[in-house]
Amino acid sequence: MEKDKLSIMRHSLAHIMAAAIQRIWPETKFGVGPVVENGFYYDVDLGDVKISEANFAKIEKSMREIIEYGDAFEQSEVPIDEAIQWARDNNQPYKEELLNDLKRSGTTSAKDLSIDELGVVSEGNSAVDSVTFFKNGSFTDLCRGPHLDNTKQAGVFKLIRVAGAYWRGNEKNAQMQRLYGVAFETQEDLDQYLVRVELAKQNDHKKLGREMEMFFFDQTAPGMAYWLPKGLAMKNLLVQYWRQYHKVAGYHEFASPLMSKKELYEVSGHWEHYKDDMFTAEREGGEIWALKPMSCPNAIKVWQFKQRSYKDLPLRLSDVDTLHRDEITGALNGLLRAREFNQDDSHNFVTEDQIKDEIAAIIQIVRDFYDVFGISGSVKLYLSTRPAEGYLGEISTWDKAEAELKEVLEGSGFDFGVKEGDGAFYGPKIDIHLNDALGREWQCGTIQLDFQLPGRFGLSYTDQDGAERVPVLIHRVIYGSLERFIAIITEHFGGWYPFWFAPEQVRILTINDTVMDYVAEIEAILGSTVISQPVKYNELRFSTDIRNESLGKKIREASNCKVPVQLIIGQKDKDAREISVRTQSGEEKISINDLRSYIEGI
Ligand SMILES: [Zn+2]
Ligand SMILES: [Zn+2]
Repeated sequence: MEKDKLSIMRHSLAHIMAAAIQRIWPETKFGVGPVVENGFYYDVDLGDVKISEANFAKIEKSMREIIEYGDAFEQSEVPIDEAIQWARDNNQPYKEELLNDLKRSGTTSAKDLSIDELGVVSEGNSAVDSVTFFKNGSFTDLCRGPHLDNTKQAGVFKLIRVAGAYWRGNEKNAQMQRLYGVAFETQEDLDQYLVRVELAKQNDHKKLGREMEMFFFDQTAPGMAYWLPKGLAMKNLLVQYWRQYHKVAGYHEFASPLMSKKELYEVSGHWEHYKDDMFTAEREGGEIWALKPMSCPNAIKVWQFKQRSYKDLPLRLSDVDTLHRDEITGALNGLLRAREFNQDDSHNFVTEDQIKDEIAAIIQIVRDFYDVFGISGSVKLYLSTRPAEGYLGEISTWDKAEAELKEVLEGSGFDFGVKEGDGAFYGPKIDIHLNDALGREWQCGTIQLDFQLPGRFGLSYTDQDGAERVPVLIHRVIYGSLERFIAIITEHFGGWYPFWFAPEQVRILTINDTVMDYVAEIEAILGSTVISQPVKYNELRFSTDIRNESLGKKIREASNCKVPVQLIIGQKDKDAREISVRTQSGEEKISINDLRSYIEGI
């Protein structure tokens, strides 16, 4: 089914659901019923009646009956005053409010809901004379349509959730109940959707973070993670790989203060545009300091440390310092959107002539970084080009840079798209997106050209001819935030990471105590085993479960912790100097003499 048709079907189901609710609770006052991703909702006011999941079956049954009747969606044009009178007569105060807004200004002027969501007639900003009603069966609704011809054309649906919602999204207004449904053309589509939702729940990184003892959040520091030893091992591995790779690639790592006086951010422009997102502290005497939200101004300070010449370029200044951004509480989402995080940042200073080669080299880094996780095939790049207005710098500079970026992208082998006019005012950019195993698209890193900041700080380098020139700055992160990257790959792999990256790679599970001397021998081998790819020195992370529990329970727990290699040791194994190796692909026996090479070969 085409997207538009699907959307019309979902919207029609919102009417059908409202009709069903009205049949069950005739006093219901209705708000709005728009289409959302995968389905629809309707906001209803039922007074003291509280809808719960226990009511879903009854509402669904009533909806099915309405669909069975096959009532037509009948459209009628009603003068605005008559419509207001209808709302009053039928005790529909929310519709009355919308209609009064329409009468006054031609729009409903709801701040938090777009006109589209309201589904109400809007003809520019002039007041309207009449509005459109749609009627299916005994249910009438203010709506501009379009709808199905009749209720029988509705697809398969399921009510999934009920939540509180303030009228027009304003907490000063009445609290309503928002009833959500999902709808698809076929039962198969619906089933697939429900499986995806279930998997997403199981793969939720916040849930796995706790179950696998990697990280957690505490209410005393919302938006800032506590890293447990296993999670920290992963975060450190990301840094280790990053550091090792970039050293060879000609990057220079620095570190800088986590706090600076606001004057630094006044020069960079962050204070003007970004102040509300920064954690600040006022010192005695009124001096204001801010926690670093991004390290661009600090990289610039490092550039300014000494006079630079063309021979220094490209100068690549990388850092992985901790950053803080004061995200609003409602926007926080585990590691995906945190207030404290680290970025694999770098600020590359280049001449205009070096832009193309530098971008090509960075795209190669993207390839390599996503390859070590086996996911570079799921990467899509987006080029955002010059905005129509308010851009900085010469058009010719933009055009040349954009043409070069396109050329690099075309030759990169990556799937890529262009977002015309979507670049920042200071330069075009390339965003790195990852499509995960559940079909969701995440933004990870970004590569951003900047024609502005070097000028703001008065940067220059001495060129071959002795002239002072302003460098071009490239901001780039490949993982993006390490926190966010860990969240995304956790959900993508459902916790079953590539072996080199697994927080706990091996667990020894004993069947009884008679094997302890043999276990000690195995531990000695594992303790001296080091994996050398893709990170150069990656000591094996393993543990031993010698508790007096059944083997079944030990296996279950190891599997819940997604330990990829489980070594099961019983008396028979000890006698034969063998090990039973259990992995996701099955179970096999190996000789203890082969253990090291087995692990190194995974
Ligand atoms: Zn409608
Ligand atoms: Zn930057």
